Parts: sequence; structure tokens; C-alpha cells
Amino acid sequence: MSASLFLAWRGVPHIVIEKHEGSALHPRAMGFTERTMEYFTAVGLGGQVPQVAPGTRLRRAVVESLAGHWGRETLWTPDGGAPARGDLVTPHTGAAIPQDKLEPILRARAAALGSQLLQGTELTSFEQDEDGVTAVVRSRQTGEERAIRADYLVAADGASSGIREALGIAREGVGHLRTVHSVLFRCPEADPFLECGFQQFEIEQGEVRAFLTSYGDGRWVLMRTDGQELDELQLAPFIRSCLGKDFAFDIITTGRWEMAGRVATKYSMGRVFLAGDAAHQLPPTRGGFGANTGIDDVWNLSWKLAMVIDGTSSPALLETYDAERRPIGWLRHQQTFARPDYAKWLKGPMEPQPLMGDVAMELGQLHRSAAVIGASDDLPPAAHPFDWAGQPGVRAPYLEMTTSAGSMSTLDLVGKQFTLFAEASVWIEATARVSASSNVPILAVHVGRDAQANLDEVHQRFGMTSAGACLVRPDGIVGWRSVGGVPDAEAALRTALHKLASLR
Ligand SMILES: Cc1cc2nc3c(=O)[nH]c(=O)nc-3n(C[C@H](O)[C@H](O)[C@H](O)COP(=O)(O)OP(=O)(O)OC[C@H]3O[C@@H](n4cnc5c(N)ncnc54)[C@H](O)[C@@H]3O)c2cc1C
Repeated sequence: MSASLFLAWRGVPHIVIEKHEGSALHPRAMGFTERTMEYFTAVGLGGQVPQVAPGTRLRRAVVESLAGHWGRETLWTPDGGAPARGDLVTPHTGAAIPQDKLEPILRARAAALGSQLLQGTELTSFEQDEDGVTAVVRSRQTGEERAIRADYLVAADGASSGIREALGIAREGVGHLRTVHSVLFRCPEADPFLECGFQQFEIEQGEVRAFLTSYGDGRWVLMRTDGQELDELQLAPFIRSCLGKDFAFDIITTGRWEMAGRVATKYSMGRVFLAGDAAHQLPPTRGGFGANTGIDDVWNLSWKLAMVIDGTSSPALLETYDAERRPIGWLRHQQTFARPDYAKWLKGPMEPQPLMGDVAMELGQLHRSAAVIGASDDLPPAAHPFDWAGQPGVRAPYLEMTTSAGSMSTLDLVGKQFTLFAEASVWIEATARVSASSNVPILAVHVGRDAQANLDEVHQRFGMTSAGACLVRPDGIVGWRSVGGVPDAEAALRTALHKLASLR
């Protein structure tokens, strides 16, 4: 749905094929990151996806039962979880919303922007040739089949992706670790326990180990890793003992999911692109490396598809999707198992990984490809945005600015088109000429004139002097930067734009 939303927002006509009629009865994801909220805000969903209050952090405790003895607090990311300087790097706080409540919001916005969604329709096969992809889809209700011809196919068909399998793309990683059984139940009487600020509970009761968490709307989910299939009659006393009190509850449904780590060895083949769990299967962590990583994938892919489909860029731009996103999939795989929650399930040794903090992982991942100029191989894969200081390949720095349209942040100015930030007029004039001659819209932000800000802070966050310039790609990633200015601004900007957008 995020792929559809972002493509629709960028004006790319497309059809979504979804075999189910609606959202799954058993939601999975609940935690959506600040970065995801930046994307949703960009496409006009800012007010519709409620964000957590500033300063709120996800807290987890080891308990005998919810109503019984509470022990120590445990952290998903030891020492790295605190949002150190976090409030200064993004205006967003992330969202705690169950997937089945978020999906209709995404669906409605995508539809309003022109997305065509075929629910209850299954993709049964596809073929690609030099000019496009032909997909055969079948209505699950009528059995009617039809062929759809498209320029490209995005395989967002989940961890067991039939499209990935048909392409013969292998996966690597730690593989299957455990099958987790869950039971979703309604128990509003337990909700007052959330008022203490804890949302997740690791049950340790004698030999029993379970994980209890809430969707914040009276629904709770209890997960077990003992591998046993239990029916509702057996689950009821188990739920009761984990709650630790005789609360009334209704079992809604049960589920199972595979705790596994697998990353595709290729994210694209010809005209087909893997995204989301089809590309990387990662267990749920505090970092939200599951759905959020997939949303990140398609944010990265959507502007590239838009520019290639409208004829501005050559298809070479699409090769940067695999180059940029697969190393990030791997980084997230390695970081998942560098954290104690999942390290304990590993079946064999794994090379020790330096633990990266949550802010670095959410807002400071490095992208390296032909669509970034100046991200050398010796740079770390992620770091705090302040430490990056405007490094090409990293999300553009966040800074509040005052413009004639009122107060806005750098994040409000990037995201749809290329954006150039500079103080020197020569860059602003060069931008107008390069934009006109290449027919690529570039928003020139004249810092200190049209956009007022503390200039020392601008220099620090963007890592440039008052003679420099920073060119941000349509996905908000710094594509190129001139730290201290150049003799011929127009030539430098034109060369940079042509290279990083693979202009035809
Ligand atoms: C318990 C649990 C908690 C989680 N919590 C979080 C969290 O808090 N934050 C987070 O970021 N991630 C979380 N995750 C991970 C997250 O749920 C997944 O990463 C995410 O849902 C993957 O989205 P996707 O669209 O790639 O794949 P899916 O959600 O699997 O969607 C794939 C879709 O493709 C459809 N499909 C498949 N084949 C076909 C076909 N042939 N034709 C038509 N349609 C087809 C399916 O019906 C399905 O709707 C959690 C996972 C679990 C199990």
C-alpha cells in the first residue's frame, strides 16, 4: 500500500493486485518510525496517522504476569535506545498504530490520488520481455482471468513471494530460527496497566516464557516460542495466567509467524523489483525493521520509477535501487541479530557487529550508488545525523527555517522534486538555468534570504560554508554537495544532476 501511495503521489499510473479483500484479522506491525512518518507527512497523511506524544518511548518489562510481580526493564537496543539529541533531528515522533488501522488510511489516500486497487485478485503468473511485463491475474470471486501489461512490476508479495521464487532469486541470512505462535484477544480490562508507560511484557513464570503486548485499543497479543499448537480451550488458562488476574477476555484469532532472517541476493531482475518482506524477512524489533524497511524501499524506488517512466532518466537509474537498498537490508539483518533479543536464538556463530543506535538506524543510514556523488567506501553504514553533517548519501539534515509562507523545516522543502540549498546567489541563478535546460524541476532554497535560519547551524548541519551548496534528491537523500563553492556553479550542478539522475 505504501508503494501504491508513493507512486500515486508522484503521478505514476499503476494497479495494485491484492488477493485478500481487506486487512488481516490478526494485525502484525504496530510500531512505525519517525522516518516513516516523514514520508506519510510528505504525501499528505500528517494529521491522519496519530503520532505518539513527544518524549514517549517504547518500554518493556520482565514480569511474572501483567497483574503480578514486575521485575526489571529491558531494552531492545542496549545503550542506544534513548533518543539522544533525537528531538533535534526530526519533528516526528513515530506512530503506534495497528496495521489493520493504518492500512485503510493508506488505501484511502492512495485511491484519492488515483491508485487502482484490485482486491480479491491474485497474480498467478507473469512474463517479462524487453518492453514490459505481462501479469496474469485471477479474480478469486469469479475465477475470471485477465492479462495486464505494464512497464514494471513491484513484487511486494510478502516473505513467501511467489514472484521472487519464479525469478529464482535466492535469499541468504540466518534462516529459520523459530516458529512463533500468537493469540490475539480482546481484554479492555487490562488496558489500565498501559498507563504506567510500559507497552510490552516479557512473561517469566516458572518455566513459562511468553511475550505480551497491546495494540492499544483493548486488543492484546500473547506470543509463545514453545512450538506447541494449542486450541482455544488450552489457550484460555494460559492467557489467564499471563494476565495474572481473572479479567474477562475474548479470543479473536490465533496466528503463527516465522522468526527468520533472510535477505534476497538481488532486489531486481529486469523489470521486476522486490520490496518489503519479499526482499528481506526480518523479525520484529524495536527498530521496526520489518514494515518500516519495506516502506523505505518503496520510497526509494518510487521517485526513480517516476523519472524513468516519464522519460527524464534512463533505466540505469533503476539499477541504483538494488545498489542502495540491499546493503541496507543486510545492515538491518545484522543489526537485528546484534541485539540481544534475537542474538539468543542464533543457531550458529555470527561475526560480531558494532551495535548502531536507533537514531543512526532510523535517520542516518548511508546510501551508496551511482545516484549519490561523494559517498566513499570507507564511510560507516550508519551514524547519527549530526555526525554525518550533510554527507551525500544520507537523509538531508533537519532544520527549522522561516519563509514568507511561515515557519517550515528543511523536510517540508524536500521530498517531491530535487531541492538545492545554498546561501550564495550564484547557486540560485545556476539552479534556474540547469532546471530549465534539463527540464527537471529543482526547488532552489535561498538560505538566509527566502529561508531564514541560524547560519552557523546551517553550516554545521549541512557541512558546507556560505559559498557551498547541497543538492537533495526527490527522496530527501543528499545526492551531491559542494562544501566551499566552485568557480563554475552552473557546470558543477549540471554535471552532478545529470550523473545522479541518470538523465537521458
Ligand atoms: C508479530 C509481528 C509484529 C510485527 N511488528 C512490526 C512492527 O511493529 N514494525 C515493523 O516495521 N514491522 C513489524 N513486523 C513486520 C511487518 O509486519 C512486515 O515486515 C510487513 O507486514 C511486510 O509487509 P509487506 O507488504 O512486504 O508484506 P505482507 O504484509 O506479507 O503483504 C504481502 C501481501 O501480498 C499479498 N499477496 C501475496 N501473494 C500474492 C499474489 N500472488 N497475488 C496477489 N496478492 C498476493 C498478500 O495477500 C499480502 O497482503 C511485525 C511482524 C510480526 C510477525
